Amino acid sequence: MVEENWFPQIEKELCTGCGDCIVICPTDALEQVSGVAVVTKPAACNYCGECETICPVEAIALPYQIVLESDL
Ligand code: SF4
Ligand code: SF4
Repeated sequence: MVEENWFPQIEKELCTGCGDCIVICPTDALEQVSGVAVVTKPAACNYCGECETICPVEAIALPYQIVLESDL
């Protein structure tokens, strides 16, 4: 079985370590490790997408898109 990473993926090569994503994350899921941002607590991530939006170098990508639908 292949375990897929569903949480935000961070390109280490692109990350400048600015810390913007760490500051804006509402659940403290991110931390700085060796100068780059890392999702150290994936279970805490609520998939809000704030980190992806704020990153100035587009180093963060959420693998899935949440679509809300209602047929009511
Ligand atoms: S998607 Fe939201 S909760 Fe998850 S790591 Fe990014 S800012 Fe934090
Ligand atoms: S906002 Fe982007 S460049 Fe800044 S620490 Fe987070 S991932 Fe790295």
